[in-house]
Amino acid sequence: MTDLGDIDITRAASLLASSRKAVAFTGAGVSTESGIPDFRSSTGLWSRYNPAEYGTLGAFLRNPAKVWKMLWELDGLLDARPNAGHEALAALEREGPLAGIITQNIDGLHQAAGSVNVIEYHGNGHSMTCLECGDRFTREQVRAMPRGDGLPRYAACKFKAGRPAGEPQRCIIKPDVILFDELIPAEAQTGAMGLLAGVDLLLVAGTSLEVFPASEIPRVVRAAGGRVIEINLEPARGLRPDILLQGNFTAVMAGLYRSWKNQAGRG
Ligand SMILES: [Zn+2]
Repeated sequence: MTDLGDIDITRAASLLASSRKAVAFTGAGVSTESGIPDFRSSTGLWSRYNPAEYGTLGAFLRNPAKVWKMLWELDGLLDARPNAGHEALAALEREGPLAGIITQNIDGLHQAAGSVNVIEYHGNGHSMTCLECGDRFTREQVRAMPRGDGLPRYAACKFKAGRPAGEPQRCIIKPDVILFDELIPAEAQTGAMGLLAGVDLLLVAGTSLEVFPASEIPRVVRAAGGRVIEINLEPARGLRPDILLQGNFTAVMAGLYRSWKNQAGRG
């Protein structure tokens, strides 16, 4: 971190210290240091699996066994552990003005770090649902199921009522993640708007804000007179934050938390 970076961190910490209600908005960049490559990066899942063939509900329903090849790989990534940045955000919720987190991530790492109020725009890969009978499972339960064609098979599946006789009965288990052709869950959208009410400070971290409607969140905060702090390796296009903290999420976030603790007299 340069001296200039330290000055910016101190400025950001003083915004945090005077904030009455802050919210964090996070994306893939906060989890890369936990070992989960950004899906869109050159080492990410979408570099090897074409999203049109593997990333939509339509593709999944047409050929769940094919899409499960990608899903088993995704499942392996979810063994990751939270990093120091996740932990600093959790501490700011426990001890400071952070009212909650809106995340585009499906990895559950904010909750694993101790964050409580987490709104997941794109669902969570740690739980799964059978699209036939609606029964829900943990990843561990699904891993323990027998597989046919690579698909987890739920022996106790009750199947949808009224299936045409003779149609092959197969349970279709899907992680509770939002695929490209699915809508942001209404409860996440409503929850996010409720959380953003009265927010005077938004921490944007690890997201390029290219995905709609997530890209609208800074606009909502700004329209209400709130400030924006950005923590990114590369500045998000068009965001124009009040303070840009350019660097690794873990280093910046841990520094911001320390500086806030000092300024708030809690150090
Ligand atoms: Zn079922």
